[in-house]
Parts: sequence; structure tokens; C-alpha cells
Amino acid sequence: MSVVAAPAKTSRLFAAGPFGERVEKARNRVAGLLRQTFEPVAERAETEGLFPRDALTRLGAAGLFQERWDGADGVDPYGDPGLGVIIAEESGRLGHASLSVGLSLHCETVLSILTRFGDTPLLAAYRAEALEGRLVGCLGASEPAGGSDLNGVRTVARRTPGGWRVTGEKKYLSLGLVCDVALLLCRLDEGSGPVAGRLGLLAVPASGLTPRKRLSKAGTAALDTTWMVVDTEVADEALVGRPGGGLLVATWGLNHERLSIAAQAVGGAARAIALATAHLQRREQFGKPLIEQQALRLRLAELSSRLVALRYAVYAAAQGVPVPGACGTREIAALKTTAARFVEEVMSECLHLFGGPGYLEDETPMARMWRDSRLARLGGGTDEMMWELVAGGLVPDHAAYDESVDLG
Ligand SMILES: Cc1cc2nc3c(=O)[nH]c(=O)nc-3n(C[C@H](O)[C@H](O)[C@H](O)COP(=O)(O)OP(=O)(O)OC[C@H]3O[C@@H](n4cnc5c(N)ncnc54)[C@H](O)[C@@H]3O)c2cc1C
Repeated sequence: MSVVAAPAKTSRLFAAGPFGERVEKARNRVAGLLRQTFEPVAERAETEGLFPRDALTRLGAAGLFQERWDGADGVDPYGDPGLGVIIAEESGRLGHASLSVGLSLHCETVLSILTRFGDTPLLAAYRAEALEGRLVGCLGASEPAGGSDLNGVRTVARRTPGGWRVTGEKKYLSLGLVCDVALLLCRLDEGSGPVAGRLGLLAVPASGLTPRKRLSKAGTAALDTTWMVVDTEVADEALVGRPGGGLLVATWGLNHERLSIAAQAVGGAARAIALATAHLQRREQFGKPLIEQQALRLRLAELSSRLVALRYAVYAAAQGVPVPGACGTREIAALKTTAARFVEEVMSECLHLFGGPGYLEDETPMARMWRDSRLARLGGGTDEMMWELVAGGLVPDHAAYDESVDLG
């Protein structure tokens, strides 16, 4: 199945638009389920530095992943992108960025790939278990040698009589310590075969991964991210998609991850602005609530205005124009980087509006939210990589130039 030839698909949830009673009902249901699932485990996960795997099991058992990915008529390569962004937005709004990132890696990145490209019986079985939350998946693309230039991947999958021997290192494997299966981008080595040296994505069981180092991070503590050594043999049918198509398959997953990051940013920014608004209403200085200071009120209004625009754009992307996939890669990259930079700014400004307590870990959640938000500009591809995708679509208007520019 070619990604480029994929037909546009409209979200079922957004069939009558991204607002209205139907969407709000679904939003409230999803928000309630996420709150119920995340709240009891969030603090402990932060302290332990380990993603609470059971949370994904519970969300799967509640049918959330099934609803996201299985169409009314069975397997649907797009599932319901509208529901995908509502899940991401509401998880972001809860303020536990580590948990929303982990949820998104499993529910968007991995499940999008297995749904579209998991053609073999082994991969179909992984997908079925992942939908039920019994199997947790993650994606390993970045390596010590590089994350931006994925063509430089050095992990090798060598042909064996029954499959592939995979050896190498993946530097940043988020969910690596709790996953059952990792989708790893590898350089294929078939000797002198036609795909030798090209990339493939292989589903590797956790038993083939050995932690080399648990990474200590600036934020998102509850999302375990581990430098892994891989050395194992997998069956032929562990290859996801065609040999040589690894980058395309990974990009399909990354597009879903990027749109999800943008939606998480919408939810996270909304939470921060709402918290700061409440603080400005309650906190008095110079004999009146801070919200009465026009400079502060308008600063929140300005952030809030940009949030409205971003939210509409994310919904439009999920509504089917563009579809997550190659035809929408540029637009999604534009949204991801804009959202990531925006949410970092919002967190910093809202922290500031709390004054000193914004910087205190045990008085407000602002410091953690600020630190956590920074990952959005790196994970799923950096700002520069997103802008390179956008730059590739820049279109010059020579006619207008010739008409209106005269350099003398
Ligand atoms: C907490 C965390 C979790 C992560 N989880 C995962 C995961 O689960 N799976 C996974 O595969 N990866 C993961 N990553 C890796 C992440 O995707 C990479 O760190 C990111 O893509 C950048 O790669 P790099 O670190 O190798 O930086 P580099 O590629 O070395 O880039 C360094 C800097 O140079 C810039 N740059 C590079 N090339 C160019 C260029 N041509 N033009 C302009 N600027 C350029 C980059 O934008 C960046 O600012 C994670 C990272 C972190 C921090």
C-alpha cells in the first residue's frame, strides 16, 4: 500500500465539525477516563522515573485504542484522527506531560504503524494485543550517531535463514523499560541483495534489548528514556512494511506523533493559561487582584488568541485535510514545530505570572510543566528538521516578483 496514494479520510468524530455536542460528549468521556487512569499513578511514576505501564493496559481494556483505530467496518488505516487529537489534547490538559507523551507513543506512533503496515500474522497479533493494552510498543529511530539524519542509522539487520539478526544501539528509547515490542529502524544487510544498505523497520521483542544507560533528563521524569543495546534474532515476519521502506514506515508513525504533540501542546497550554488566570484573579497586589492590571490581562489574552488559532489548525489537520501521511507531512511538521515553540513560551509566561511560587516545585506545578514542555521541540524531530520539511514546499511567485520588484 503506498502512503502517497492514500485517499483522504475524514474523522468520524469530526464528521459534523470539530465542535458541538457529539465531540464534547466524547471529549468529556475521554478526559474522565484519562484522569481516572493517570491521577492515581502520576506522582509515583515521576518519582520512580518509570512509565506506569498499567495505565496503558487500563486504557486498552476500556476500549480507547480500539475506538481510535478500528473503523465501523473493521481495520481502517487511519482510524479516527479526530479522536486521536482529542485524546492527545485532553491528556495534555491533565498536566502530566510524561504520561501524555508515553500514551501518544503507544496509541499514535506505534499503532498507526501496525495498523497501516502490520501485514504479517505476527504483526497483526502484536496490533491486536496493543489495541487491548496487553502489549506496549515503542519506536527506536535515534542513535548515538544521530537523530536528525535517520539515513545514518547504524543498527544493522543481517539476513539469516529464518529472518534477521539485529545488532546495534538505540540511544533514546522512550517506554524502553516497560515495552514488550520496540519498532527499530535498521540498516538492512542482505549481502549483495537489492535492498542491501537500505532501511527497514523491525519489530523487536523487549527480550532483545539490554539497557546501557537510563537517561537522566531535564523533565518528563515519568517517561523512561533509555539508551539500549540490541542484539537478537527476529523472524522474517517481524519486518514492518517492505524491505527498504523503513524510513517511509517510520515517517508514517512520526507524522501521527507530530500531530499528537501539537494537540498535547494545545491541551497543556490551555491548562497553563487557565491556572495563570485563576492566580491573577486570586492574588492581590497594590490593593486589587492582579487580573485588573491590564498588562498582565492582555498578556494572557494574547497567548489565548494564539491558542485559539493553533487549536483550529490542529482540528483541521485531524479532520482530513491533510491526512496524517506523506501528503500532509509538511503541514503536520509546520503545526508540530509551531505548537512546540508556542507551548514552551506559554509555560514560561504562565510560570512568570505566578511570581516566585511559579518557580517553586512544592507550591505550584508550573516549574515542572515548563521543564516538561521543552521536549516537544526535540522529540519526534527538532524544529530545524520540521522547518526543512516546510522549506521543501516553499513556492516562489516569480510573476508577482517580476511585477512588483525592481532592483534597478
Ligand atoms: C527525552 C527524549 C526522548 C526521546 N525519545 C525518543 C524515542 O522514543 N525514539 C526515538 O527514536 N528518538 C527519541 N528521542 C530522540 C530525538 O528524536 C532526537 O534527540 C532528535 O531527533 C534530535 O536528534 P539528536 O539528538 O541526534 O540531535 P542532532 O541530530 O545531533 O542535532 C543537534 C542540533 O542540530 C540541529 N540540526 C541537525 N541537523 C541540522 C541541519 N541539517 N540543519 C539545521 N539544523 C540541524 C538539530 O535540530 C539540533 O538542534 C528522544 C529524545 C529525548 C531528549
